[in-house]
Amino acid sequence: MSFDVGIIGGGVIGCATALSLAQSGARVLLVEKHRIGRESSWAGGGILYPLLPWDYSEAVTRLTERSLELFPAWASQLTHSSGIDPEFQQCGMLVLAPFSADTAQAWCDAHATQMSVTSGNSVISALEQDNEALWLPGVNQVRNPRLLKALHRSLNALGVKIVQENEITAWETHENVVSGIKTSHGVLRAENYIVTAGAWSKSLLSKHALDLDIRPVRGQMLLFKAEPGLLQNIILKNGIYLIPRLDGHILVGSTLEDAGFNKATTEEARSMLYDQAIGILPLLKNASLVLHWSGLRPGSPDNIPTIDRHPVLKNLYINSGHFRYGVTMSPASAEIMTNMILGRHQSMDITPYRWPVSAK
Ligand SMILES: Cc1cc2nc3c(=O)[nH]c(=O)nc-3n(C[C@H](O)[C@H](O)[C@H](O)COP(=O)(O)OP(=O)(O)OC[C@H]3O[C@@H](n4cnc5c(N)ncnc54)[C@H](O)[C@@H]3O)c2cc1C
Repeated sequence: MSFDVGIIGGGVIGCATALSLAQSGARVLLVEKHRIGRESSWAGGGILYPLLPWDYSEAVTRLTERSLELFPAWASQLTHSSGIDPEFQQCGMLVLAPFSADTAQAWCDAHATQMSVTSGNSVISALEQDNEALWLPGVNQVRNPRLLKALHRSLNALGVKIVQENEITAWETHENVVSGIKTSHGVLRAENYIVTAGAWSKSLLSKHALDLDIRPVRGQMLLFKAEPGLLQNIILKNGIYLIPRLDGHILVGSTLEDAGFNKATTEEARSMLYDQAIGILPLLKNASLVLHWSGLRPGSPDNIPTIDRHPVLKNLYINSGHFRYGVTMSPASAEIMTNMILGRHQSMDITPYRWPVSAK
């Protein structure tokens, strides 16, 4: 069988891109070195929002705003096509001090975002302290492992060829095109290739990465099991967040560590996250701590992903470097990539996502 597109890496970005292209009629091959959706995309929290959006550039805002327009219909379509509910839900986020209410208000006014400055306890009565807080009622979340399972099943239903446990190890090039990808199980071929290998994208591209700056940034997370309803909204304080799931699970994250490709968890991070979480919500002491894990984010400068065609190799593309917000940005990033491959009009300015090449 021949393929229009070969996608390398089966995280949320690779799966969303494969789905979008297959829905547009392309014959898609998706190659994953381990199992679909078990790396950063599984490890993440699923908050569909840049934690403090006023800390980021318009390039991040545009991509997240477009994704958030697409998400409700995307999630319900995935539920229908897969029978798996990714638990997309609007749960709101309460930001506890420190923050600049003026900066937040100015950003929210400029981006038509609902926000109020309120007493923390008026939203969540179980907080340790009742201080002034920012309440963002429109913030959504999704349950990552379910989202990835729903994507996987939907891709199967659409006839996407998925090859797992198969690592891309090298590129076969001829003049200015990629003619094949060497894998642990032989050479695979397609008309076009898209790298969606997350934190591994730069090392996989090797010399073809040019000035691409994507590096692994480790994030550790804890999972508690509490009574459903103990917490209903996301809480963010000083970079630490608590995310309640519908069944009573509460995620606490996360660290930002430069540890290379080492995915080990550490006792230091476990106790820091635990202490911070109990400090915010003392009732968590009664919940059981059920899991501690880590994932490698595809870190990028200013959290701006690269979504572009290679400057030299005409049939090679990348959709990677989504750093802290790859789940949030997935449908919009897939849309941009699909428009690019199919030569369609882009609905937004995509220049910030260009493949970086420094002038020599
Ligand atoms: C602790 C933590 C919390 C987070 N919280 C959030 C959040 O709340 N909201 C949000 O939007 N984002 C969050 N993120 C970020 C988000 O998870 C990532 O941005 C996103 O998962 C990146 O997706 P990806 O598909 O690019 O990478 P990945 O999910 O890592 O997928 C890349 C895939 O490529 C495969 N691969 C690599 N090399 C090869 C090769 N040579 N051959 C074949 N396959 C290969 C890998 O095995 C992997 O499956 C969080 C991340 C972490 C770690």
